Amino acid sequence: MKPLNSAFFSSLLLSLIIFAVATPALCQPDKASNVLVERVADAAFVQLHAPSFQALTPRQQALAYWLAQASIAIDPIFYDQMSAYGLQQKRLLEEIMAHPRGIDPEAMAKIAEFAKLFWANRGNHNDLTSQKFLPAFTFDQLEKAALVAQKDGAFRIAYADLPPLKKPADVKRELESLRASLFDPAFEPMITAKSPVGGKDTIQASSNTFYPGLSLNDLKGFQEKYPLNSRVVRAADGKLTELVYRAGTPDGKVPPGLYATYLKQANACFEKARVYAEPAQAEAIGHLIRYYQTGEYAEWVAFGTAWVQNDATVDFDNGFIEVYRDARGAKGSSQSFVTITDKPLSTAMKELAENAGYFEQKAPWDAKYKLTSFKLPVVKAVETLIETGDFSITTIGDNLPNENEIHEKYGSKNFLFTGSDRALDEATGKTAIAEFAAGPAEIERASKYGREASSLLTALHEVIGHGSGKLSERVSGGAQPFLKEYFSTLEEGRADLMALWNVWDPKLKELGLISNQEEVAKAMYDSAALVALSQLRRIPHGDTIEEDHARDRQLIAHYIADKVPGSIEQFTRDGKTYVRVADYQKMRQGVGMLLAELMRIKAEGDYDAIKALVDKYGVHFDPALRDQVLARYKKLNLPTYFAGVNARLTASFGKNGEVEKVEIHYWDDPVKQYLDYGAMYGRNLAP
Ligand SMILES: [Zn+2]
Repeated sequence: MKPLNSAFFSSLLLSLIIFAVATPALCQPDKASNVLVERVADAAFVQLHAPSFQALTPRQQALAYWLAQASIAIDPIFYDQMSAYGLQQKRLLEEIMAHPRGIDPEAMAKIAEFAKLFWANRGNHNDLTSQKFLPAFTFDQLEKAALVAQKDGAFRIAYADLPPLKKPADVKRELESLRASLFDPAFEPMITAKSPVGGKDTIQASSNTFYPGLSLNDLKGFQEKYPLNSRVVRAADGKLTELVYRAGTPDGKVPPGLYATYLKQANACFEKARVYAEPAQAEAIGHLIRYYQTGEYAEWVAFGTAWVQNDATVDFDNGFIEVYRDARGAKGSSQSFVTITDKPLSTAMKELAENAGYFEQKAPWDAKYKLTSFKLPVVKAVETLIETGDFSITTIGDNLPNENEIHEKYGSKNFLFTGSDRALDEATGKTAIAEFAAGPAEIERASKYGREASSLLTALHEVIGHGSGKLSERVSGGAQPFLKEYFSTLEEGRADLMALWNVWDPKLKELGLISNQEEVAKAMYDSAALVALSQLRRIPHGDTIEEDHARDRQLIAHYIADKVPGSIEQFTRDGKTYVRVADYQKMRQGVGMLLAELMRIKAEGDYDAIKALVDKYGVHFDPALRDQVLARYKKLNLPTYFAGVNARLTASFGKNGEVEKVEIHYWDDPVKQYLDYGAMYGRNLAP
């Protein structure tokens, strides 16, 4: 399943990013507040913090260390999957960045800027838009810089499978081979071209390396044995063949395949991690090692099956997972993460789940739609230690594994990346609030309680929101086939409304899940009212909302404002539009009305009713208002793209290679991190 991306899912950078976290009641506040470490053009580099690391046992810390090393080990693969030139470009930029001495400062500044964007996007195509971006330096400047770096010691040893560049002529040849890929905007302009031009089809026009030299037509009728983890090429005999991503087995029975260098290195780290893992997780790791050796799908399924049933505090994923980089939707891109359970928030969700029956009884809908027994989701709030490959800080929720055969039998793990969400929020939230909040009271409330409110909203939404309510006989198989294209909007809205309804319930105080109930509830309501305005930022064209979450948020705010006069008000000050909650209890009355109606619609599968509601309140907006919102955001100069800077784990070892101590630090400069990662494969470090 495509993971939730903050750009589409969150309620948009006004402290109300929906999975934002860290609250006095639920979560230990994180002391370091300035997480934004670098800004390059539209992109921001944001530190991921994992305060829960300190609470781990030494054994868990050692496990985290080796899993993180395995994440670093596979990082180069994704560069190669996205472009045939990715690894050479990466080596070139890293060697220059590591040997800047004597390079013309003006050229060096431009190279550094480009290198940072290159790392942030794992190549010279934008990670989100898939479009190529160009450097500000010239080919000559780059060549001169590379030659100076070479004199200073760069390129002297091999980088993974790339041979050293020992003579100036080698550097010149290398540069020439990269010229078009770096400087020609028309050369491989997209990672994944969904609407290609110039007579090419979607895979010919894509820069990714899943099917080099082939067309969709060539692939017709070709049955892959390794659809997820192979590159398809035409062999010398003219036949199509699969280059399987695999390390090979130690006994030589399965020969090494594509990416063997990286997968072997990852496996060496996993072997060490396995020693520190609990038995069930060690079993999962064992299957992954075997999968990386053989490339066999059965091992991947065995890994997923063991992994999904294991809820370790230090958890991870590592593999060829999401397929949306491939226009054909078959090839998995390499990605990984290592996480630590955010215990306070996960515990809060568990306590809510145990009290689901109570909240069901207090729900404002008809008694005949009330459940008496519950099957509740397992939701895991996590702080991220490291993300590599095709996995980025903007992913704030993910549901894995993707294999139907696993989750139908064993369920799935729902990750909420609260650490990522918190970092994104800290990097941008306050600036936006200062511009859009209705007044000083709202600004103060958001800064004191905004994050607690959004974390509580998340917990209530996930735990007692989606799982609540009983359907009528008629739709007992599920409401989706009845409500069709309006189903997601209804269901997301219903879950949000369950949070807004219950935030005032004394049970939350009793369970210790809320600090200052009145203020947290008001902060949650401020956000819910304001988001209908602020989210217009994400819809630069047209005058309708298409995205389900954006529709449900506008539906809530506009329905309540219309049905309960005096609840939510829009007003103008100095030519700017603001939204204010005029009366919180009146707004709650509206929340109850809409929640009861959405429950009825879902339970009865009433398509006409949901269509009328969403079309009236959730779809249309005033484009002039949107233009105003866009202009105000533009002035704030907030970043558009985000790259995570991972935690840095360092270990000291005993005589037998056992981990003695692991320490966590945070890189203050993304360049240091990327050069450190690159060094795993033999690049020269700066003298
Ligand atoms: Zn939801």
